[in-house]
Amino acid sequence: MALFSKKNSTDVVLTGDRPTGQLHLGHYIGSIKNRIALQDKYEHCFYMIADVQALTDNASNPDKVRKNVFEVALDNLAAGLDPKKTAFFIQSQIPEIAELTVVFLNLVTLARLRRNPTVKAEMKQKGFGENVPAGFLVYPISQAADILFCDSNIIPVGEDQLPVIEQDNEIVDKFNTTYGETFRKIKPVLSDTPRLIGIDGNAKASKSLGNAIYLADSKEEIERKVMMMYTDPGHIHASDPGKVEGNVVFTYLDTFDTDKAGAEELKRQYRKGGLGDTAIKKHLIDVLENVIGPIRERREKLAKDPEYVRAVLSDGTKKVQAIAKETMTKVRKAIKIDYFANKDYAV
Ligand code: ATP
Ligand code: MG
Repeated sequence: MALFSKKNSTDVVLTGDRPTGQLHLGHYIGSIKNRIALQDKYEHCFYMIADVQALTDNASNPDKVRKNVFEVALDNLAAGLDPKKTAFFIQSQIPEIAELTVVFLNLVTLARLRRNPTVKAEMKQKGFGENVPAGFLVYPISQAADILFCDSNIIPVGEDQLPVIEQDNEIVDKFNTTYGETFRKIKPVLSDTPRLIGIDGNAKASKSLGNAIYLADSKEEIERKVMMMYTDPGHIHASDPGKVEGNVVFTYLDTFDTDKAGAEELKRQYRKGGLGDTAIKKHLIDVLENVIGPIRERREKLAKDPEYVRAVLSDGTKKVQAIAKETMTKVRKAIKIDYFANKDYAV
């Protein structure tokens, strides 16, 4: 794959999470696994904790956002994101992102923002209607600033973020045609499972919907959640033929069972009849425990060392602050507001 050239030094990878809750299997399979693969292929990798974006729909709950900054950092560290290869940083500590957002706000219409399918779906899910916080409506614009302030162009994301990246690329075009060639186009990188469904069969496992298996869940919690999963409502007795399509247990097995031939054999038996729901659920519990067990163990160890996590965040943030200053110098020059940068420009 061309994107995965070894230690590419001009491309810049950026990924991030909103600190709105602990991370789950959807994040792991949709984005974190790619982040971990990319950090070995690219020299410049950044991981952002999007606390300002989390506040757009949690303005009155700053404690929740603050607490989850630590939680999502733990999740990523435990899953294998390596601070020696990926700089961890906190969005709010880079004021240049806010400055760049203000510049970009002029390049996008309200009508275009309202047409963004992701924003539309999330507004509906959160029941905002006309009372949508302005910050929430414009989050795709601040996301363009998140990506472009550090010149990143490779973005591992889940499928739900594609319309946001599309809008961000429109901002790149508009900026470059208005103020001169400054930013690169952005490439989203999807995983093989760009959208994991919820344990309730909902189209997306989401921290806001609470329908997910978390990377910190205990074995008992995994068991409880798998036992609650929908299968085929028509599959009453083990001997009945069952449906695999739309069956949450098989969707999770397809995604997480590394024994692909074994999973296909289970599907064949289930379709034919003779395989009970409890048997496939027990198998899924083992498969998921194999994924989550080692992450949970590392997470528990890291959680006992908050000073280490704090140092990772603070070191990464310092590194990124320097890059932000360079970009803003370029941007201010492009839009001719660099009044005191040199004598020729004196007002
Ligand atoms: P919130 O509900 O607060 O928006 P979220 O669960 O959508 O939380 P984010 O922090 O917004 O999580 O997303 C982090 C990354 O994980 C994004 O790249 C997103 O596309 C990806 N992601 C989130 N949920 C899933 C999922 N169910 N399947 C695959 N990828 C996902
Ligand atoms: Mg989200």
